[in-house]
Amino acid sequence: MEINSHKTPPLRTRLAPTPSGLLHPGNGLSFILTWAIARAQGGTILLRIDDLDQARCREAYVEDIFRTIDWLGIDYDEGPTGVADFQANWSQHLRLDHYQQALEELRSSGQLFACACSRKAIRALAPDGPYPGTCQQKSLPFDQPNVAWRIFPPPTAAAVQLRIWQQGLTRVTIDQPDAWVLRQKDGFPAYQIASLIDDTHYKINFIVRGADLWDSTLVQCYLAQLLDHTTFSDAVFYHHPLLLDEKGNKLSKSQGADALQSWRKAGQSAAVLYRLAGQHLGLPHPVLDAQALVQALQSINKK
Ligand SMILES: [Zn+2]
Repeated sequence: MEINSHKTPPLRTRLAPTPSGLLHPGNGLSFILTWAIARAQGGTILLRIDDLDQARCREAYVEDIFRTIDWLGIDYDEGPTGVADFQANWSQHLRLDHYQQALEELRSSGQLFACACSRKAIRALAPDGPYPGTCQQKSLPFDQPNVAWRIFPPPTAAAVQLRIWQQGLTRVTIDQPDAWVLRQKDGFPAYQIASLIDDTHYKINFIVRGADLWDSTLVQCYLAQLLDHTTFSDAVFYHHPLLLDEKGNKLSKSQGADALQSWRKAGQSAAVLYRLAGQHLGLPHPVLDAQALVQALQSINKK
């Protein structure tokens, strides 16, 4: 359970929601797990709101993030205090230079190529598979409009090393090497690079995320190796099980899952999420709120 020792720096983690919809129970579970592990170990929590996708982000969804955190009964140590503070001081749009700098570094070391393929053309050649390699040897100019920047795919059987919580250093083969898009056609950085650069910038060393982001973790670890971002390469990851609906499908905003906003409006508590978090963390007895969860974790840590 313990990841801190005299050798490792104090735990720094983050809550990293995207304001492209109302938060759903899976986000709530992820927040609770992140918060409780950090608090039980005296760590620091950053609130980082990933608003890069301008087309989908809404102010009301940013507001929903703050309300959800209050309703869950959790807190954080660094990050925006409200919508106005977020927009003025914390938006990812204020860090575009950082992302571009990393992209330039990869480009100048020959790791990237420009791709002018349409989605339709890629789908026609590779309906389910990785990028078909169309532009890989064309040396298209990077600065022409309407090209994406892709990374040359890792070699077959390439592996990354990552630290998995409660398991330690693990070597994992990248199952689906691909020429991932790192800069989109509109010039904005892709999620993989923005998330990695932010985690590096804020010196995050403990990352909690849903199991659906496992592949993203491998991509980001691969990029961190290329960029020699050692805080990220040394970070500890915990991929928690996803919340499923009665049919066994992942609960998500896009599937119209019950938003936490409606739980709040109905006067419902988050007890069911705390109970589930306690189960995931292997607690022997059910817990129903934030304080009980942290206390139970601390008593396990002491053993
Ligand atoms: Zn292409």
